[in-house]
Amino acid sequence: MADEIDLANEIAERHTSEALRAALSAATGPRRPVNATGRCRSCKEEIESERLLGDPTADLCGFCAAEAEEIAAKRRRTGR
Ligand SMILES: [Zn+2]
Repeated sequence: MADEIDLANEIAERHTSEALRAALSAATGPRRPVNATGRCRSCKEEIESERLLGDPTADLCGFCAAEAEEIAAKRRRTGR
């Protein structure tokens, strides 16, 4: 029973993110390249749908983006 609920949730989630992606690429038009795969450029995991909703061109997941931001901040601090 629990497995069936898990499966149903998973399917629903997948459909939601697919619909979200289609709506986003339709809404943003051709000027900014939308992350069509919805996957992280770095770790290849699926990017959180909330994140893609905020920025359809996001090509890093929350984790990798935080990591990249940390590296960038470190570079800014050291001037390198
Ligand atoms: Zn990632």
